[in-house]
Amino acid sequence: MTSRAYVGLGANLGADLGATLTQAALHLAALPGTQVSALSSLWRSAPVDAEGPDFVNAVVALDTGLAPLPLLDALQAIELAHGRERPYRHAPRTLDLDLLLYDDAVLDTPRLTLPHPRLGERAFVLRPLLEIAPGLIGLASGAAWQTQRIERLGPLSL
Ligand code: AMP
Repeated sequence: MTSRAYVGLGANLGADLGATLTQAALHLAALPGTQVSALSSLWRSAPVDAEGPDFVNAVVALDTGLAPLPLLDALQAIELAHGRERPYRHAPRTLDLDLLLYDDAVLDTPRLTLPHPRLGERAFVLRPLLEIAPGLIGLASGAAWQTQRIERLGPLSL
């Protein structure tokens, strides 16, 4: 039995941010018992609660046999493989992977909160997420995301 997970991808440090997200999506597709079932477009967005240049963002839907915590472990391993450093909070990042949703799980633990906190307020999450899961429009809780600067760059393809 598999679960549907949505993973948010973002990067704002590096020479080719689209290539970074493509590589990350390929890593996700290679996880055990996991298939990529949908890919959003690539979007360029202004930093929100972060520093540095614009981000490139996308959302990937996974059908996975991994439980939420092993999936989070895998996301963090992929971040590390992309040389992510955390010199200080909100620093620019080479790759940020967030577990946005995992089926309809609701969880509030020190390591993992589901749905991802602030999911409903951020254009860089909602715009790509709604591309591949329009039925989730009910998650768009705040109005702030409608005014954040974001533009579609083109397809994310594997
Ligand atoms: P960030 O620096 O924004 O990538 O935050 C990473 C931290 O958030 C890690 O310590 C995770 O354990 C924690 N975290 C809590 N909930 C989530 C989630 N749904 N997806 C990713 N990280 C999460």
